[in-house]
Amino acid sequence: MKISINKAHYPVTVLGPGKRIGIWLQGCSIGCKGCVSQDTWKRDAGRDMTVAKLITWCKQSTQKDFAGITISGGEPFDQTAALSALLDALHAWRKTEQLDFDILCYSGYPLATLQKMHQKILDKLDALIPEPYIDAQPPTRLWRGSANQTLQLFTPRAQQKYAALVDAIPDDSNKRMQTMLDGNKLWYVGIPGRGDMSALEDICKSRGVELSDVSWRS
Ligand code: SF4
Repeated sequence: MKISINKAHYPVTVLGPGKRIGIWLQGCSIGCKGCVSQDTWKRDAGRDMTVAKLITWCKQSTQKDFAGITISGGEPFDQTAALSALLDALHAWRKTEQLDFDILCYSGYPLATLQKMHQKILDKLDALIPEPYIDAQPPTRLWRGSANQTLQLFTPRAQQKYAALVDAIPDDSNKRMQTMLDGNKLWYVGIPGRGDMSALEDICKSRGVELSDVSWRS
C-alpha cells in the first residue's frame, strides 16, 4: 500500500504529550482559509512511499521509550485506505514489540462526518483532533489551531495520557512550535499562534536571513 507523505520527523514535542513521531500526509481537499500548511495541499505522486518503508523509518528513528505518534497533514482522511493500512501497521508494531505509544490524528473534517463515514478508522485511533481550522477563532487550548477544535479521547490509554490536558491552555511552559534548519530551508512543526509566523520572519530578517518561497501563505 502506498501513502503520500509530506514529511516525517522525530522527535516532535509540540503535537501531543512527550516525544513523538510526527507524520504529515500530503494532500488536502478542504482548503481552510488562513491555513499555514498550504505546502501540504497538493497531491504529489512523487511523495508516495510504501507503508512498509514508512514503518521501517519509524522503527529506525525512535528510541523504545517514545511516547506516541501524531498523524497530521494535509488531510489524513483524504487517504483513507492508506491511513487505515498505516494504522494497522502501527498496531502490529505496538503489539509485537509490546510498546505503549498512543496514536493521535488531526483532521479538518467535522467529528460527526468522520463518525458517519469512517468509524472503523476512528476505532484504530487513541485520540483525535477534528474540525476545520477557523482563522477567526484563535486557539484557546493546547495542540489546537482554532478554538472550535476539540480533543477526542477514544481509549483508556488516551484517557490516562491526555485527560488532564484536554482543557490545558497554551502558555510559556508549553512550547507551540519547533523550528529546524535543513540546508537552506527553515521549517517548523507545531501550532503557531496568530502572528507567530510574521514574528518568525521578522526575527530572521533582523538577523540577516531573508525567507523566500514561504510555504505558509499562498
Ligand atoms: S488546516 Fe488542515 S484541514 Fe484545513 S486546509 Fe490546512 S491542512 Fe487542510
